[in-house]
Amino acid sequence: MSRFKSHMDAAMDEARAAAARGEVPVGAVLVSPSGEIIAAAGNRTRELNDPTAHAEVLVIREGCAQAGSERLPDHDLYVTLEPCPMCATAISAARIRRVYYGAADPKSGGVAHGPRIFTHPQCHHVPEVYDGIGADEAERILKDFFAARR
Ligand SMILES: [Zn+2]
Repeated sequence: MSRFKSHMDAAMDEARAAAARGEVPVGAVLVSPSGEIIAAAGNRTRELNDPTAHAEVLVIREGCAQAGSERLPDHDLYVTLEPCPMCATAISAARIRRVYYGAADPKSGGVAHGPRIFTHPQCHHVPEVYDGIGADEAERILKDFFAARR
């Protein structure tokens, strides 16, 4: 349980760092089968001029580069916000074992909302999903960010 929390804490740190860069504060970490964080990232869509540079995509790219593989079986992904449809599809394609996410995203989420990617018949690999992990803190980080920009 303590390890469990620390991985989401690391994702929260990435979300805060993203906010400091002026990016929508979402953070993610990728955890190896041995339980180590092997990639950590926050959103970098503005910095990279890349609409696909979501935290989840960035850690999957990094993890795959390290593994020399397009698949990451037995890896777990922690992300502060419910993944969008694009990221959920990437998570499935990478064969991620478990997804832990914080805040729900009724507007743009693609796991419990919208297209519910993992329940779709075309989704060939369904990870285990654990939601609401650190949701209050993840929501606060997002709210503070958007309140400050108003
Ligand atoms: Zn996404």
